Amino acid sequence: MKHPSKERTLVIIKPDGIQRGLVGEIMQRYERLGLKLAGMKLMVPTPEQIEGHYLLDPNWKKNVGEKAISSYEKKGEKPPSSDPIKVGDMVVARLKKYMTAGPVICMVWEGAHAVELVRKVTGGTEPRSSNVGTIRGDFVVDSYQMADMDDRAIRNLIHASGAVGEAEQEIPHWFSKGELVNYRAVHEDILYSKELEGILE
Ligand code: GDP
Ligand code: MG
Repeated sequence: MKHPSKERTLVIIKPDGIQRGLVGEIMQRYERLGLKLAGMKLMVPTPEQIEGHYLLDPNWKKNVGEKAISSYEKKGEKPPSSDPIKVGDMVVARLKKYMTAGPVICMVWEGAHAVELVRKVTGGTEPRSSNVGTIRGDFVVDSYQMADMDDRAIRNLIHASGAVGEAEQEIPHWFSKGELVNYRAVHEDILYSKELEGILE
């Protein structure tokens, strides 16, 4: 079994994160956990790359469509369609527009429980309800209500892989093998080594 300290996750700082000047702030949150950067690049994604990213999981479109329909219904509003696939298509179209509007930064972070811990620090999908202390909770104001009203994707600064299996599909979608670097960071000794020799003089 691969050691847990080798787990990797994909993070994308979305166009609003770059426009808001939050790149350093966001990276610091992951860096100070003790995670290690394994890859990073600035790019303007194509609509095909965004569509491909969200459709890596064949169930995602239907699931997100169902989630969106139930949130319209909870608000007492009529969803744009009762077909989850159609609503999912609408969400994908909005995401393509949002994610190709400007440069994004794609990153791979590595370390123990990287997927779970990056999600915890990033916060829930909707900034309105994401917890205080998380990146989305602290730095952005958007809501599904406002995004749906204006027919656009919710501006939540970041994409982060939702599960280890998702990360394993998403990382090769954005990075070739040669763009990821295997190296040792000095702080890993204090995080992971079995013995703590060599500290006392
Ligand atoms: P994430 O992993 O926290 O980014 O959330 P998901 O993977 O569930 O969703 C990805 C993106 O789809 C979000 O950033 C939103 O733009 C959009 N999305 C997800 N759930 C909903 C929803 O219930 N309603 C709407 N309108 N969009 C949604
Ligand atoms: Mg997701």
